[in-house]
Amino acid sequence: MTHPDHDTLLRFVLQTLDEPDNAIVSGHLPACEECRELEQKFLSEVEKLQGIKFHIAVPAPPRLTRRSRRLVVVSRWAAVLATGFLLGYMTAQLSDPVRPVVVQQRLIPTRAEVSSSAFVSCQAIDVTTSP
Ligand SMILES: [Zn+2]
Repeated sequence: MTHPDHDTLLRFVLQTLDEPDNAIVSGHLPACEECRELEQKFLSEVEKLQGIKFHIAVPAPPRLTRRSRRLVVVSRWAAVLATGFLLGYMTAQLSDPVRPVVVQQRLIPTRAEVSSSAFVSCQAIDVTTSP
């Protein structure tokens, strides 16, 4: 009878063992007391590891200097102003129906095609087809 080595057994305990080794070990364990004991030992070790809790000391943030504190106040005021402006803008948009914007239009010829005979050329319009 060949016993699975410790590494294979540990991976079996951790359920990271690939087939077919997984099937081989699980088939071997009920027949081998030695390996079952080892498996139990590994299991208790793993449980112990999972039970470990780490206490991590998080350092307190350094005290804000006077200058940065003023900066915080300034940025807070800026945020308040920006929020007020945004709210005002949005309510103005909501209360006002969309007003037509008057745009003055003037036709400005972009280029004047002047023929040599001093007449401005234009597109010929067929008068007969228009309704
Ligand atoms: Zn064995």
